[in-house]
Amino acid sequence: MPAPIFPFRPRPRVRPRLRWAAALAAALLAVPAAAAAQGAPAARAGANLDVLHYTARIEPDIAAKTLRGQVSIRLALRADGAQHLEFDAGELEIDKVSEHGQALNFEKTEQRLRVRLPKPGKSGERHEIDIAYRGAPRYGLEFHPERGEVYTIFSTSQWLVCIDAPSERASFDLTLTVPGGLKAVGNGRLVSKSALGGRRDSYRWRQDQPMPSYVYGFAAGRYNEAAGTGENGELRFLSAELQGAQLRRVFADTADMMRFFGRRAGIRYRGPYTQVLVAKTIGQELDGFALMSEAYGREVLEKPEAQGLIAHELAHQWWGNMVTNLDWGQFWLNEGFANFMAAAYLQHRYGDEAYRERVDGWKKRVDKLRESGKDHALVYANWSKPSADDRAVVYQKGAYVLHLLREEIGERAFWRGIRTYTRAFYGHSASTADLRKVMERASGRDLSAFFARWVDGAEPAPTAAKPEPAK
Ligand SMILES: [Zn+2]
Repeated sequence: MPAPIFPFRPRPRVRPRLRWAAALAAALLAVPAAAAAQGAPAARAGANLDVLHYTARIEPDIAAKTLRGQVSIRLALRADGAQHLEFDAGELEIDKVSEHGQALNFEKTEQRLRVRLPKPGKSGERHEIDIAYRGAPRYGLEFHPERGEVYTIFSTSQWLVCIDAPSERASFDLTLTVPGGLKAVGNGRLVSKSALGGRRDSYRWRQDQPMPSYVYGFAAGRYNEAAGTGENGELRFLSAELQGAQLRRVFADTADMMRFFGRRAGIRYRGPYTQVLVAKTIGQELDGFALMSEAYGREVLEKPEAQGLIAHELAHQWWGNMVTNLDWGQFWLNEGFANFMAAAYLQHRYGDEAYRERVDGWKKRVDKLRESGKDHALVYANWSKPSADDRAVVYQKGAYVLHLLREEIGERAFWRGIRTYTRAFYGHSASTADLRKVMERASGRDLSAFFARWVDGAEPAPTAAKPEPAK
């Protein structure tokens, strides 16, 4: 996952449809986040600017495992006196930076592009920076020439110069050029598909809803395709190995999951949703689609109850993509939620035992963390190099704590709180403190002891009563 992030609260973008929720969000936002008071790591890229829109053109070379790209970043400065703009740029090589045709000085430091403005900027001043680049990403973009396939896999700044911080939301316009005959998926609506000379096709998508850049992406390959009907849009299922009838079986419950999560969230899913089986991945949510592996697709085909990951990735369309962790240190708000919601779906689909099985699994992992002295608070000051145990804290303990909260305050208050939280922060970032306030309001209870123990606390190992002497 991306580098450590300076905790920053974005200006809330109010959506008129949810005025009451926005008012609640504004009231909650007025209280400073606990995270802001903690010692913060070095300022994140782009802390002094607000990206409004990205317009990108990407052309991967699948056989050579390289790419060429061009991005226009429209932004507004957040403060007076800005002399430099910084972007996350992974290992990309920058060829040229300009604004309105005038070349700008820049330097590429480790993972960052630093651009010098001709004169210090003023707060609110708009800029449109054009960047031409190329790269041979070692990660962030997966190339499988044997399948004629290319797809993104997190780490957006390895294929697009952007701001990685999850609190930075912007709209996105992508033109992707791939060999002719491939099927491609991207974010938002498909604006055009055109055949270029030299047996290439260009797809252009536009995502109007501002989204965090980590859910930007695409996939292209020689896919078979099947279709279904979702709540408010078309469902598409793609795979290079499975056939249409098999794909419809693997994703038979997608529409039911969508209805279930929509009810739990208090907001229905809108628009098309695509599920793609790619060569290999652990599973990944993107804006409007999800990638899972062909091997996993085969597993679900054999054993439909194995669809927890399908549910997890779909749950992210609400918890993660639309209600986004304020910074990477609060990643549990994305992953603990997606895991918990997937289990809640399995309970709805297969009964209490399926849910209990999940909860028991989380509890066992939490016990193991404690026994090995690796338990940790759910919020991390620095999430730049998480260990397998840290990931277990965020994914498994995070889900387990939501289950315990459900037991603590009861079914009605819990789900009422989840709906309020989701609607209040839909299209915004949320913090752990925000979640607590909403759940306290929903239950009419002071949850400080619960949060102190389960969210902020880390239990010492039961046998570690005697501390080791200091060396
Ligand atoms: Zn996830």
